[in-house]
Amino acid sequence: MNDVLICLFSSAGFDKAAQGLAGAGRRLADELGGQLRAVILGSEAESLALEIARVSDAVTVADQAELAEYQPETCLNALVELCGEALEARAVLLANDTYSQEIAPRLAYRLGGSAVGDGVEVSARGEHLRVSRQVYGGKAQAVIELKRRPAVVWLRARSFAPPAHRETPGAITRAALDIKPDERTRIVERKRETGGEARLEEARVIVSGGRGIGGPEPFETELKPLAELLGAQMAASRAACDAGWVPPTWQIGQTGKKVTPDLYLAIAITGASQHMAGISEAKTIAAINTDPDAPIFKHSRFGIVADYRQVVPLLREKLAALQK
Ligand SMILES: Cc1cc2nc3c(=O)[nH]c(=O)nc-3n(C[C@H](O)[C@H](O)[C@H](O)COP(=O)(O)OP(=O)(O)OC[C@H]3O[C@@H](n4cnc5c(N)ncnc54)[C@H](O)[C@@H]3O)c2cc1C
Repeated sequence: MNDVLICLFSSAGFDKAAQGLAGAGRRLADELGGQLRAVILGSEAESLALEIARVSDAVTVADQAELAEYQPETCLNALVELCGEALEARAVLLANDTYSQEIAPRLAYRLGGSAVGDGVEVSARGEHLRVSRQVYGGKAQAVIELKRRPAVVWLRARSFAPPAHRETPGAITRAALDIKPDERTRIVERKRETGGEARLEEARVIVSGGRGIGGPEPFETELKPLAELLGAQMAASRAACDAGWVPPTWQIGQTGKKVTPDLYLAIAITGASQHMAGISEAKTIAAINTDPDAPIFKHSRFGIVADYRQVVPLLREKLAALQK
């Protein structure tokens, strides 16, 4: 079979990642001459199923109370059943989120397939699939050939274009899985991320601060008001997160979040390759830095060589005047 299967969790809805995943899946399915199928795990998955049906050939929904909350073992077992027995896909694609990163390698093992993560491109090469991923902090690209079927790939889905709607929506099937709750682990508590009103991965504008900000206070007093005026989400370099100035969930980069905003404003961030790995798909990067040789300027469309403490208040003033 040359079908491509995409795996989605209903809790995220038809967000940019789900749309991009469907887009990547459709392109690959067309290339392979197979169908694009989707499986959805979760509860209250009806509206997502309808959205996905408009862009795929078939949707299987496991809409069960046991899957309402993400629990790795339970979701993994459900996916193994759906991907393995029912669908026998050539490729299984997931988004590059924390759920998928946790499940996908284990899914590949359980299906007897091969796995690669953090892909930025996936294509067919004869019998095998090829996946490109960035290495050395985005300085080079590795192309990996997956020889065992199914190829389980988790992709930077947000950077793929969504697919066109089909004239006839795909059929929706409801799966009734025999799910046994995992007895080895249980969720004790859930805590909402502080400052995470919206997901950074979805943000169109990001105001990000680095070690040069100098401490936690200016993030509150200088950067936050600027972000509010721009309708932006706030983020930071690893150095600022490691210093404890802002939550670790704000970290952008190789070991942080990969973001795809229209505008990324890097303030007092040097632009180390590990940081740049998280913003390589930002449409426009603008930087404020006192050092004219800071690497960030090589990647920036706009740059201001100055102390941010002088520039940020001026920016705020201008933006506030424009909004009057
Ligand atoms: C395996 C590994 C993984 C990593 N993963 C990540 C990652 O995911 N994300 C990440 O960010 N880093 C990561 N790093 C760390 C990375 O190499 C850099 O050390 C880090 O990004 C530096 O953060 P920074 O630019 O905020 O700090 P610095 O390098 O200290 O730079 C501060 C900048 O602020 C400027 N500055 C100072 N004062 C002012 C001022 N008043 N106004 C304007 N500009 C000013 C300076 O000129 C300087 O350019 C990783 C490193 C390793 C080894």
